[in-house]
Amino acid sequence: MRVLVVEDELKMASLLRRGLVEAGHAADVARTGDDALWMARAVDYDAVVLDLMLPGLSGVEVCRRLREDGIWSPVLMLTARDGVEDRIAGLDAGADDYLTKPFSFAELLARLRALVRRGSAERPAVLEAGDLRLDPATRQAWRGDAEIGLSPKEFALLETFMRRPGQVLSRLELIEHAWDFAYENRSNVVDVYVRYLRDKIDRPFGRTSLETVRGVGYRLRAEAG
Ligand code: CA
Repeated sequence: MRVLVVEDELKMASLLRRGLVEAGHAADVARTGDDALWMARAVDYDAVVLDLMLPGLSGVEVCRRLREDGIWSPVLMLTARDGVEDRIAGLDAGADDYLTKPFSFAELLARLRALVRRGSAERPAVLEAGDLRLDPATRQAWRGDAEIGLSPKEFALLETFMRRPGQVLSRLELIEHAWDFAYENRSNVVDVYVRYLRDKIDRPFGRTSLETVRGVGYRLRAEAG
């Protein structure tokens, strides 16, 4: 695999590069966030090892911009042991995994292998379907610029639809993803909540994005404003 190492500290950067090369991988080093961004745009890296503690452009910001640019290489963050807030911000900005310093190099290699197995498919932190947006981290949803207030269950149902845009989902599939075994065992629970959702995401905006597919279930169409 070819790895981009983003680390400003020379010693750490060369240690990481040498370790990766010795393990049979190719590795390039970026010393700043700006360098990391142009290098990741130029080369399709299999993985990015991103130190969060960078001068200038922060590691979290680098991660956010990579994803905004449509670069989905798996990102493994390196953080301080007490950097809980950084780790949360980084994961919510689209990073895939983290290691706290100091770490075992064998573990770094194993985590990279695991990340690369999962591939570089698109996996946005904020979901979009047409002009509907949903942020699972902040629990917010919008139609265009208008924020929509959703109950936890409505949110879970919309998230289920937005992870499968355009797909017809049966009532059973919707229950499987948005409810747990403790759900109120009413046969029409999905229909009830679909109605609630329509009243929030469609009707006020004159839309009909949440379609009934007769005899099968429901589908969220990605319609633009
Ligand atoms: Ca650093």
